[in-house]
Amino acid sequence: MGKVLAIANQKGGVGKTTTCINLAASLAATKRKVLLVDLDPQGNATMGSGIDKSDLENSVYELLTGRCELKQALQRSENGGYDILPANGDLTAAEVELLDVKMKESRLRYALTTLRSQYDYILIDCPPSLNMLTVNGLVAADGVIIPMQCEYYALEGLSALVNTIQRISSVLNPSLQIEGLLRTMYDPRNSLTLDVSAQLTSHFGDKLYQTVIPRNVRLAEAPSFGMPALTYDKQSRGAVAYLALAGEVVRRSKQAAKASALASAND
Ligand code: ADP
Ligand code: MG
Repeated sequence: MGKVLAIANQKGGVGKTTTCINLAASLAATKRKVLLVDLDPQGNATMGSGIDKSDLENSVYELLTGRCELKQALQRSENGGYDILPANGDLTAAEVELLDVKMKESRLRYALTTLRSQYDYILIDCPPSLNMLTVNGLVAADGVIIPMQCEYYALEGLSALVNTIQRISSVLNPSLQIEGLLRTMYDPRNSLTLDVSAQLTSHFGDKLYQTVIPRNVRLAEAPSFGMPALTYDKQSRGAVAYLALAGEVVRRSKQAAKASALASAND
């Protein structure tokens, strides 16, 4: 059964999409079967995977609103080595349309049901808000990866996100957990970075990934070529950091699987 991870933070520009694309490519490079779900109407993950968002016959929008079958929306990112459910501006309309639909928070979870067994990892790129699309992402997920920049205001938004995750796990998706916090655009020369980093360690302990993603120009350039950094420049610091993150994500999944096997053996 594949693990579904939502990449979420209601702040924009913290590295959600960059993380989604590069983690997907890194997991795929280690022979995992990966699906990326673009849940942001900006379609940045779609474009960054080398798929033209202005030329989509079917997308996540059609899927969520019941206008197409899963396989009609599914595409392959050759540059990334993973499959993708792409998105574009049409998805903005889903927000409004879903309001009148039954089980509106669970549309994505339902749509992904048959896919879960076909992938090792399904990564969901959430939009920069706590709207119905993000709620769909969180209801569909087993875990949330929270990318954040180590700056003063980063901590402010975090409690709203953590509260939302707790509310969804108590009402709609009991298996939802914070999978990990990821420090992005990390600059150890900045003393504020180190302060915020220390605060995160004391609040979140081992939920904080040991891997940090450095500020790296290759990570910013690669999407304009429709590629993950691993394809664009596999020796770049950015590409290497995301490979390390993939290793950590896989290790955590294995530990969690072991722990739950032990727990059920003791039942
Ligand atoms: P979000 O999806 O959270 O809005 P993005 O992943 O789109 O954030 O990142 C915002 C901007 O910062 C993009 O232009 C992206 O290329 C750039 N960026 C993200 N991570 C890094 C990094 N580690 N180093 C340099 N630039 C980065
Ligand atoms: Mg984004």
